[in-house]
Amino acid sequence: MSAVPVSAVPVSAVPVSAVTVSAVTGLSGPLLAVDPAAVAANTRLLAGRTGAEVMAVVKADGFGHGAVEVARAALLGGATSLGVTSIEEALPLREAGLDVPLLSWLNPVGADFATAVHAQVELAVPSLEHLAAIARQGIGARVHLHLDTGLARDGAAPAEWAALCRAARVAERAGRLRVVGVMGHLACADEPGHPANAAGRLRFAWGLRVARAAGLKPAARHLAATAAALTDPLSHHTLVRVGAGLVGIDPTRDGAGSTLLRPAMTLTAPVVTVRRVRAGTPVGYGHTWTAPAATTLGLLPLGYADGLPRAASGRAEVLLRGRRRPVVGRISMDQVVVDLGEEEVRLGEVATVFGPGDDGEPTAADWARWSDTLEHEVVTGLGARVHRVVARSGLRSLA
Ligand SMILES: *Cc1c(COP(=O)(O)O)cnc(C)c1O
Repeated sequence: MSAVPVSAVPVSAVPVSAVTVSAVTGLSGPLLAVDPAAVAANTRLLAGRTGAEVMAVVKADGFGHGAVEVARAALLGGATSLGVTSIEEALPLREAGLDVPLLSWLNPVGADFATAVHAQVELAVPSLEHLAAIARQGIGARVHLHLDTGLARDGAAPAEWAALCRAARVAERAGRLRVVGVMGHLACADEPGHPANAAGRLRFAWGLRVARAAGLKPAARHLAATAAALTDPLSHHTLVRVGAGLVGIDPTRDGAGSTLLRPAMTLTAPVVTVRRVRAGTPVGYGHTWTAPAATTLGLLPLGYADGLPRAASGRAEVLLRGRRRPVVGRISMDQVVVDLGEEEVRLGEVATVFGPGDDGEPTAADWARWSDTLEHEVVTGLGARVHRVVARSGLRSLA
């Protein structure tokens, strides 16, 4: 996704809507307006649910919202550190001038750890091999040992944990690195009653005991992500790593924060053409939908290459002229057709594909439901053709 330079958006456009932004920047296609004030407010809400510090997780380009913008807004909202998966994701945050603690937790053993440490990026260590690769370089890395607390995914297996802690202590005494944290991650935190949560907490507590017994003194101890930050205080320790919640996604089944967290993106698209069709007119690939009566069809210039899940075909809706309009026929790669009924829509009028829901527009959660997936996948799936603009109004109200 290409971010429009913020300087291209005039400060005077307050409150800024995607429509005004498009008029002033010369952008005419699908637009993604990101609301930093929502990110800051969400961060404040999450920080208020815990006594622990908040790490803003801005991986996957800030869940599709723009990593730098989300990071800045989250720090204004009370986050005190940043987290990403790869070193490649970490470096641009430094280049943008963000100088808070920054952790990268998912790197192959041959990654450029020297560059990371030079940029003061802290590194998670999931294996003895990673530890050796980092220690060998003798670059004084600040590391977080990562214990698998129940996903059998990233993090060291429990059987290797004691050895990892001992080896880390040896490297620490040799002055080659410092263990500043221990981390885990919960598999089922979006289901607060799930027994795996207690099991994960117990395994993490055990991992901390083993680390201390090895002589380590990890100041940062972190297990919870958004769902557990909202629902499971026992998992908070000294730090919670929140990503989804920053951008307004509540992953918990009971919606512990859903009425309060605010979606931070609005996706819009202009009507390219309108046409009147007769009853019986089939629409789109495979003719999966046929107009039951004479109607007006509007064409929007975005499709599954831009992140609209094709699986939402036949279910999805957009908002246009204050009303929900069904997307009809298959969602194509580049375009979708919307049934406008008797509405006389002008070319260039803007439809809202999803947003916070304030005006009755669908939300990313609706699109996720229509395509049987998660909001996370919808917001991170937007394609390179969608231009992202920052709502300056939000930034000003934060200043
Ligand atoms: C993505 C991720 C997070 C953030 O999770 P959310 O549920 O989005 O808050 C935290 N920790 C790890 C290891 C992650 O991969």
